[in-house]
Amino acid sequence: MLEFTAGLFVHLSPNERAWASNLSGFLRKGGYLLHTSDSLQRRFANSLAHYQVLVRLARAEMSQSIEAVWTTLLRLPPLHDKILIFQRDYLNAQSNIGHLPVQKPGEPFERPSVYLWTRCAACFGGGFWEAKVETIHSAKGPNVGKKRPRPSTSLADEGDRCEDGLHVPNSALQQCRDSFIAADENRIKASCTRFSDTGLMGLLCRHDHVLFLANMWTAGEKQFYALALIDALMKEIPCHWQVGLLYDIACQFHHALIKWKYLDVWLPRLQFATSVFHAYGHQWVCQLWYHPRKAQIWGLSDGEGCE
Ligand SMILES: [Zn+2]
Ligand SMILES: [Zn+2]
Repeated sequence: MLEFTAGLFVHLSPNERAWASNLSGFLRKGGYLLHTSDSLQRRFANSLAHYQVLVRLARAEMSQSIEAVWTTLLRLPPLHDKILIFQRDYLNAQSNIGHLPVQKPGEPFERPSVYLWTRCAACFGGGFWEAKVETIHSAKGPNVGKKRPRPSTSLADEGDRCEDGLHVPNSALQQCRDSFIAADENRIKASCTRFSDTGLMGLLCRHDHVLFLANMWTAGEKQFYALALIDALMKEIPCHWQVGLLYDIACQFHHALIKWKYLDVWLPRLQFATSVFHAYGHQWVCQLWYHPRKAQIWGLSDGEGCE
């Protein structure tokens, strides 16, 4: 019953009083009368709270055990078909030796953090984090990491230019920004100033698993939420990993990072593209650089998991 109620209270506003009085009424009809008037209410609320804490403790205990095993396994030679059966036993026994030191906070990560691993094993599990930087580079699309000629000036107004590190002229960026602001104004109108939290911004992996969430407390979608989320991610991944970021307004975001030197420690390892449904709303020049279907590194990732 506690499990049922805990689940129900995820879907509607928790109300133990209503639940308890309904249950007493239901029991009464069946001839089961509770003699003290508020006994169920109070005990039910307490039991539910204790139950929920217990569930959380059990989960925490479980993830701690799993983490300990992973940390140990990381130091062992990988198992493969050529290893004889008795040697496998030996390796398995080795993995039970105990806890090896976990990566200390602040040290550069050689592998993704265990937290990320628990969020998406496909992205952060396995042994591929040891891949050399060269391998990662070779997987990049043709237009990434190479200096390309800037777009011909005929695309842009006279006197228009590209900022250093960007390939899209300022005039096109301005047009992208104008259309985004127009779209965002509708959203701001829709969000209500009476609430202290106005929404959630999430950072998802390419399998649409949530990695980090930020509470939004402003009416619009501000850049600092994205900055915080990216910063959180970069601190948990190996320092040679390159990250591709799909975002509705990748062009604006990239421009802001360069202009204001935000996240400049991470910038050399970041690639940007516009989430695919939004990409077509951007200027053509912008799409040439930020449309995810125009560079191989994105595969068929669409960046629309948040939507
Ligand atoms: Zn993933
Ligand atoms: Zn754009």
